[in-house]
Parts: sequence; structure tokens; C-alpha cells
Amino acid sequence: MTGLTIAAARTSDAVDAALAGALAAIVGAEHVLTEFEARRAYAHDRLPFANFRERFGKLAGVMPRLAVRPGSAAEVEAIVKLARREKVELIPFGNGSGVLGGAIPLHHEVMVDLRRLDRIVSINPHDAMVTVEAGMNGAVFEKALNEAGFTTGHLPQSIEISTVGGWAACRGGGQASSRYGKIEDMVLGLKAVLPDGSPLEIRPVARRSVGPSVRDLLVGSEGAFGIITELTLRLWRLPAEERGMVVAFPSLDAAWEAARRIMQAELRPTVVRIYDAVESADRTEGLEQFKSSPILAILVFSGAEPVVGAEQEAARRIIESLGGTLAPDGPFHHWKDNRYVAYSQKWQAAGYYNDTVEVTGNWSAIPGMYTAMAAAVRAIYPQIHFGAHWSHVYPEGACQYMTIRLPPMDEAEALPLHARLWEALQTLVLAHGGSIAHHHGVGLFRNPWIKAELGTAHEVLQSIKDALDPDNLMNPGKLGLRPAAGAVDVRHG
Ligand SMILES: Cc1cc2nc3c(=O)[nH]c(=O)nc-3n(C[C@H](O)[C@H](O)[C@H](O)COP(=O)(O)OP(=O)(O)OC[C@H]3O[C@@H](n4cnc5c(N)ncnc54)[C@H](O)[C@@H]3O)c2cc1C
Repeated sequence: MTGLTIAAARTSDAVDAALAGALAAIVGAEHVLTEFEARRAYAHDRLPFANFRERFGKLAGVMPRLAVRPGSAAEVEAIVKLARREKVELIPFGNGSGVLGGAIPLHHEVMVDLRRLDRIVSINPHDAMVTVEAGMNGAVFEKALNEAGFTTGHLPQSIEISTVGGWAACRGGGQASSRYGKIEDMVLGLKAVLPDGSPLEIRPVARRSVGPSVRDLLVGSEGAFGIITELTLRLWRLPAEERGMVVAFPSLDAAWEAARRIMQAELRPTVVRIYDAVESADRTEGLEQFKSSPILAILVFSGAEPVVGAEQEAARRIIESLGGTLAPDGPFHHWKDNRYVAYSQKWQAAGYYNDTVEVTGNWSAIPGMYTAMAAAVRAIYPQIHFGAHWSHVYPEGACQYMTIRLPPMDEAEALPLHARLWEALQTLVLAHGGSIAHHHGVGLFRNPWIKAELGTAHEVLQSIKDALDPDNLMNPGKLGLRPAAGAVDVRHG
């Protein structure tokens, strides 16, 4: 069974007044949201499938019972303790920008909206760390750091619509990941509230050798192992210089090889983006050089002289040895000016079935994986729009970020096609030894494939979940973990 129609939810659904009262005693009545329209805003995140369903008046999941907005870690603790006592299921909510349905209620859970935890606690330039509350908006946070001369280097496309806690909970990646790493490389310490209401603190320290990393149970936890209330992240000085390079490559193979060699030469580009022929064409229209060398790459080097110049020069030599040529910098500026724009919105609004799927592959797997995926999606729907880029590159491999888009059509036809596209892309990445997700997380939409990726490690996660959360109250049914009894099952079509 999938979720309710919105009209049915409006008439059938009752708010639990006693629970609302108990939560109001913790946070104040103005921070307990019980009205239909207020709760409706929490009934979805940015999962495209949920958007497709809502066009036809249906929810992907169900309405939350209510939403509560704590203003401190102590209030979060009190909410979780109350929930444990009363057996109430909770979903931590950052800003709802997740695209895998991680924040979608499946069993009328209570949403714990963390956006009132929105302060920078301290900036410590000497130890190069910043401590921030988990609900702070990403762009507001980064702007405040920039004004003080710093950056975390975590710059996701969704920076303006996401929270710092959401970044960590989803194990996200920003556009400068090739230099600064993903969020898991940045989190030094954190504070969280475990499912039984106990506070957990991982003190920020340069490195430790004290057993397995419990921090990493929370980084990527997607709300299932606790509520993150505070994070301490690495801090960097804002680079003195930033230099964009636009390159025309004769082939994707040459571009991938250049990226591999650049990363394995231990150069530290801030940004590397390689676009396939479909995505290159949009961005290089009218540029002569791309007629014979159709693959676009954008690289950014940053830092201070002489290092930045030397790194750029070493990269140029690698690029040219593979037939790449430097091109006018228009595409770099276009990318930079639009780096935080959500492109999918305009397609969704026009009735298209637009979705993105990001996976990780090692360099040896990427050429075969990309070719197999392009063929598979075109076999499912020959007129599909399919384009890919590789925008997080590492010495070992890269993230392959794909856009799939079906034209407007009836949902009865579109949703099964959409399900087959996901199935093809996720099973092919596993067949090529890669990971089903690079930075968007699992949410609920990747539930069908997480066990195939993690194997016994997924059983370990379930055992830890059972031990920490025996009543299964923290965001049940996400990360492929056991759902609540009677929860809706969001099927792909
Ligand atoms: C246009 C667009 C572009 C995007 N670009 C990127 C990108 O470049 N890089 C990237 O990594 N992602 C990207 N995303 C995905 C999304 O923005 C990220 O996953 C983001 O980290 C989610 O943050 P949020 O605060 O909105 O979390 P939410 O969507 O509210 O929640 C996501 C999950 O995390 C859990 N959660 C949230 N806060 C906490 C907390 N404090 N403690 C415990 N659990 C919590 C929720 O329960 C849920 O399971 C993009 C999304 C969109 C729509």
C-alpha cells in the first residue's frame, strides 16, 4: 500500500491533543505545530517520486502527527525521553531538502524540526575548528564563516536549502569535495541525543585510536540512530586565489584519465567536473573548440602562490598530454554563477519526471559502468533524456551523477518506467563494484538495494539499531532498516 490521498488525509486525520500538550510543556505551545497546512509542509521532502505523486493529489507517505520545534539540545533530550516513554515515533527534520525520502513520515511520526538550533557556538582558528548547532542553515553558516575569513569547504548545490545537521545525517558531499573531502572527512566531533534520550558527545580531537568510530554511526545515520544537535567541523582559511580552467577533451576516456592522473599525482583541485557529451553540448554551444573536442571539463585550483600556480601548471601538462586543450572560461563562470541553482524544479513544474541518481565507481569500472547504464536507460525508454557528469573525483574513483528525465505522461505509465530506471541504475552500479549512493544518502527510496550493497554490514546496522532503539522509534523504515508495524510501504510505482 502507498500513502493517502491529500484530500483523505485532510478529513480523516486527528491530532493527538494530549501529546501536543506534553510537547508544549517542553518547547512552548507556539513551537508545536498541529494545523493541517503546517503539518502538510512536513509530509514530504524533495524526493522526486513524492513530487510526482503530489501532482495527482497523493502523498508518497502519510501526514505527520504533528511537528515540534525544540530550541535547545536539552529540549531535544526531553522530547526524545517523552517519545520513548509514550512510544511515539520521531523523525528529525533539517530543512527537507533530502531527495531520497529520509524525512517522509510513513507511520504518522512526530517531526522534530531542528531549525531553531541555528547558532555558531564557537570559531577556533588556532585549532582550525568550528562548532555549530545542527539546525543552522548551510548558506547562512558558510557566509558567517566567510565574513570571518574562513570556510568549511562543504559547498553542496543545496547549501541554501539545507542544514548542517542534514549534511552530516546524509553523509553529504559538496562541490569542493575533491580538495576538502565529504562531510565525513570534516566532522571532528558532535553532540547527539540517542533514541533512549541519553546525550552522546564525541569530543573534537585531531585523531584518535580508541576503538571503532561511534561518530561514524551518526554521520550517515539519516535520523535512525539519534538526533544530532551540534557538530564540530574542520575549518580552513578562505583561499587567497581561485582559478578556473575550462578544458575541451576529445573523448570521455581522455577526460577521466586526466582526472585520475591529476588526483593520483596528489594535486589538490578544489573542483573537477567532467560532463558527458549530452551535458557538455548544453554548456558549450557556440564554442568552436568543442566541435572537434566535445567533452567539457571544468577545474578549479585555489590557495596561495606559488602553490596554486604550480598545481595548475602540473594539471595543464597532464591535460595536454591526453589531448585536452584549454578553452575560453565562459563555462566556468556560468557554472560558478549558477552553482546553487536547483535545475530540476523547472522540469518538475512542467510535468516532466525528472530525477537524479548519483553513484560511486572506481576508475577502472567507470567507463564500462557508464556505457552499460546509458544503454540500459535507453532500452527502457528510447526518448529518455539521460546525461551524466563526474563532479567529485578522488584518487580511487569518482561520483557519477546522472539526470534521467521522462516527458509528461500519465503517472500509470511513468511510475513503472521510473521504477525500472532506478532498478537498472542501482543494480548496474552494484554489478560494477561501486556504491549505490555517493552523497544523497539512502532515505527510503534506496531501501531495495542497501542490503545488496552492505551485506552482513547491514545486519550489523540492524543489530545496533535494535540495541539502541528497541521500540524502533527513531525514523523507522529508513536506511533499509525494519519499518514500524503498519507503516506505509512507498513503492516505486
Ligand atoms: C537541488 C538540490 C541539490 C542538492 N545538492 C546536494 C549536494 O550538492 N550535495 C549533497 O550532499 N546533497 C545534495 N542534495 C541533497 C540534500 O540537500 C542533502 O541530503 C542535505 O544534506 C539534506 O539536508 P536537510 O537539512 O535538508 O535534511 P532533511 O532533508 O531535512 O533530512 C535528511 C535526512 O537527515 C535526517 N536529519 C536531518 N537533520 C538531522 C539531525 N540534526 N540529526 C539526525 N538526523 C537528521 C532526516 O531525518 C532525514 O532522514 C541536494 C538536494 C536538492 C533538492
